[in-house]
Amino acid sequence: MKLMPTPPPILFLDIDGVLNCQGNRTHSGSREEFTPAAVLALRSILDKSDCRIVISSSWREDLMDRIDPVFKNNGLGDYVSRIIDRTPQIADAPEYTRRGDEIGKWLDDHPEFRKRFVILDDDWIPLDLAPFHVRTNLEVGLTNTHAQMALTILAGPRAKKTRPGKRSTRLFG
Ligand SMILES: [Mg+2]
Repeated sequence: MKLMPTPPPILFLDIDGVLNCQGNRTHSGSREEFTPAAVLALRSILDKSDCRIVISSSWREDLMDRIDPVFKNNGLGDYVSRIIDRTPQIADAPEYTRRGDEIGKWLDDHPEFRKRFVILDDDWIPLDLAPFHVRTNLEVGLTNTHAQMALTILAGPRAKKTRPGKRSTRLFG
């Protein structure tokens, strides 16, 4: 029997509040100016995992054609090829579950990727997806601690020593 190649893990990427943040002092106010520390944290995830990116941000609605140039302008040009898709828009979903509903729909449409994925988002994500969610803070954006949590989730259940999203005591050591 020929073994099927293991599909790469998926990183569902929100942008506002993850890669750009309000607390960045150099921030021009443009959503297209990413926070340098958040960029470094994302790079560390992408360097240490072969994950592919699916855009779940509201940028899908009006800025999708800006993502490649904005990635390049923010030192992420090497990773543009890792962006493979965007989540579908479900306009009639309740606002408080919409982001999760859209990610869930993408996973339903691509079940081969269900085993390993992580969601980076500063918004609330419904409980069924919570174990896969790393929640960032709008003021700070993505940090190295978040990156470590994301890598633990992406490594998959067998590699986990603690439940996804639950902090290991080593983070405080
Ligand atoms: Mg956001």
